[in-house]
Amino acid sequence: MKTTTRVVVIGGGVVGCSVLYHLTKLGWSDVMLLERSELTSGSTWHAAGGFHTLNGDTNMAALQGYTIRLYQELEEITGMSCGLHHVGGLTLADNQERFDMLLAERAKHRYMGLDTEIIGPEEIAKLAPIINLDGIIGALYDPLDGHLDPSGTTHAYARAARMGGAEIVTHCHVKETTQRPDGTWDIVTDKGMIHTEHVVNAGGLWAREVGAMAGVYLPLHPMEHQYIVTDETPEIYERETEHPHVMDPAGESYLRQEGRGLCIGFYEQPCRPWAVDGTPWTFGHELLPDDFDKIEESIEFAYKRFPVLERAGVKSVIHGPFTFAPDGNPLVGPIPGLRGYWSACGVMAGFSQGGGVGLMLAQWMVHGECERDTAAMDVARFGDWISPGYTLPKVIENYQTRFSVSYPNEEKPAARPNRTTPMYDIFDGMGAVWGQQYGLEVVNYFAAEGEPRFETPSFRRSNAFAATAREVKTVRQAVGINEIHNFGKYRVRGPNARGWLDRIMAGRIPQPGRLSLTPMLAHSGRIIGDFTVSCLAPDDFRLTASYGAQNYHMRWFLQNAEEGVTVENVSDKLNGFQIAGPKATEVLQACTRQTVDLKFMDVRRMTVGMTDCLVQRVSYTGDLGYEIYCDPMAQRQLWRTLTEAGAAHGMKPFGMRAMMSLRLDKGFGSWGREYSPDYTPAETGLDRFISWSKPVDFIGRSAAEKERRTPPERVNAVFAVEAEDADVHAYEPVWIDGSVQGFCTSGGYSHHAQQSVALALIPRSLAKPGLVAEIEILGKMRKATLLDAPLFDADGARMRG
Ligand SMILES: Cc1cc2nc3c(=O)[nH]c(=O)nc-3n(C[C@H](O)[C@H](O)[C@H](O)COP(=O)(O)OP(=O)(O)OC[C@H]3O[C@@H](n4cnc5c(N)ncnc54)[C@H](O)[C@@H]3O)c2cc1C
Repeated sequence: MKTTTRVVVIGGGVVGCSVLYHLTKLGWSDVMLLERSELTSGSTWHAAGGFHTLNGDTNMAALQGYTIRLYQELEEITGMSCGLHHVGGLTLADNQERFDMLLAERAKHRYMGLDTEIIGPEEIAKLAPIINLDGIIGALYDPLDGHLDPSGTTHAYARAARMGGAEIVTHCHVKETTQRPDGTWDIVTDKGMIHTEHVVNAGGLWAREVGAMAGVYLPLHPMEHQYIVTDETPEIYERETEHPHVMDPAGESYLRQEGRGLCIGFYEQPCRPWAVDGTPWTFGHELLPDDFDKIEESIEFAYKRFPVLERAGVKSVIHGPFTFAPDGNPLVGPIPGLRGYWSACGVMAGFSQGGGVGLMLAQWMVHGECERDTAAMDVARFGDWISPGYTLPKVIENYQTRFSVSYPNEEKPAARPNRTTPMYDIFDGMGAVWGQQYGLEVVNYFAAEGEPRFETPSFRRSNAFAATAREVKTVRQAVGINEIHNFGKYRVRGPNARGWLDRIMAGRIPQPGRLSLTPMLAHSGRIIGDFTVSCLAPDDFRLTASYGAQNYHMRWFLQNAEEGVTVENVSDKLNGFQIAGPKATEVLQACTRQTVDLKFMDVRRMTVGMTDCLVQRVSYTGDLGYEIYCDPMAQRQLWRTLTEAGAAHGMKPFGMRAMMSLRLDKGFGSWGREYSPDYTPAETGLDRFISWSKPVDFIGRSAAEKERRTPPERVNAVFAVEAEDADVHAYEPVWIDGSVQGFCTSGGYSHHAQQSVALALIPRSLAKPGLVAEIEILGKMRKATLLDAPLFDADGARMRG
């Protein structure tokens, strides 16, 4: 065993072996993997081995597609068999909502190059005759779905990694991971010590314990899971072809052929977390005792859906644990603030996702960034606020809703309310219907007296429609007030603050008293942030950006730290309100003795009522507006001051649903939708905020300059859509002249213009005024006309005036 290496991967399950293989594939051969027992000794050996592409997150779905296609490559490289059975798979829909979800998925797959199709009951019967079709409306068929041999596949990854120079040491238990002052790591094992630059935690069932060795809390939890293998069944062994996989979301089950019988697994409601206080090191190649009580109801349902099961005897039961993160997606990437420590855990579908996880992590380590947006799996998507007490109920919720329809407007209830501001009870008393962002309660909209305090989850327009329309009207016609707790906020100070910001941000850094908008770019020129920069003094700046990206942004700031500058995350130390609408200035003026003469993009300290505030003249609503920041301790007092003054002007509160409608009037993009590492400034229009004249080699400059010389082929455009009861959410395909030429990044309904709106990436050559396209929304083609001017305040007179 070598004692120095570039990378130590801890854990020889499918994920650790995939990471190791991908590191070698990208050219790092001085890498090793340590496994405390034999390879596959965690969850991996007892997996059912099923794989599929379906995932609500488009990037995750694409990576699942990559994983599945990789197996053939692995077989070719190694000469080993992964035991592949590409039998295709059906996901059933027994009600309109489920069918809507499948239609939406199918639409996304069109431009992702995934060859899925929607089929009706007759075709389902032909493909999978053992299904009782009572109540089935249709299904999504994916020819890529199938299953494999979990152990063979893991060993194939391992052999491919060894062929690339990797060393694998089994029966080597990592006991400690200690960071040296220079940032490198000592890995203490029962076979001796290894010194390494990078550590990858791929500890699977023991990832929590491995993380704790470095003082890292990883929000994941193991759950018990059970599947049954039946005896031989004539309906199966008399077939000429292998039976396809069937996912039956209504029955929370997945089914496939196993030998001459069947295999069926359940995501049962009375599910059970496993090893709540920690995974014992003594747990090895063993299973949990059978537990039919837990799946009794699921089995009864399955007997109705697949009557053949009732006649088939049980050959074996596999009951074992595997891990989930609170939202069911993996935890991948560099741990914020900890140099050289990488996470590759929380992978609940190792055979659908393991290849993609390995590829992304290896790209991140070798190239410094990934080829696509990894937000859905980035370990930084959970903040420092996360705790085991939060993770457990969320993981249970995730297990129970694994097969539920996931709606674009859905707000899952477990572990809430968790984090609240001083406004929570005030807003709750006013009819707030709550959403959740990065653990924080955020008002979606205010229900009127007699209206339900719950938004119906739907792919179509929800019952929030009327309330959102009311709130938009208040903003556009009078003045609205909205809490601004859900912005990520950073204080940047020091003699080198301006120099550092100039290097980190692509845009102009403002002078004292002014604001600027700027993209933040990765070295590749992709967008990793869209910021408002406020200059309070020559050496004192405030940044605002997306609340959900705090850990993601802080990780980048720390990775790019410099002498003479400090960056502090003050997201929860500053709260306040924005007021927006034609009466906003009058309201603010009524609350202060200072003259409210701020020009657009001015920032100033003001006393509002009795509260010391930082006031910025800017508003994401696209209207005349002010952001008024204060100490959270003074927030209720500020609320009283503003609302007392606002009453005379008809001021009313508004929530996030209205905010997202208002931004559509101006075609403003938003983080995670238009602005993400999947896109570049020139594709999204953020290039207009790049300061080409500043004499600084800001990060991403050369890539941005290149793009300036040769504009990208696609560009974001705003469309008016002739929709009926369903608007664009994201990733709907855009058809132009009979073929898919682009996709939507976001959309919704502009209540101000009473118009359905979509923002979409389409070929630059076609993005001309008057372009008429079609957008596929829930299986229907909707006429969409490119807008050449914003729907509100086209000349900016109101916003800037
Ligand atoms: C019943 C069941 C059915 C499933 N069916 C499917 C399916 O059909 N399709 C699918 O995609 N997924 C399925 N899964 C999930 C799948 O098993 C997991 O996603 C996958 O195995 C996770 O792999 P991993 O490498 O992350 O973790 P693990 O397999 O748990 O591997 C972690 C490894 O790390 C090692 N390790 C931990 N700590 C140390 C240490 N300190 N020193 C050295 N080594 C250490 C462990 O010994 C272990 O080998 C199923 C799971 C269960 C329980």
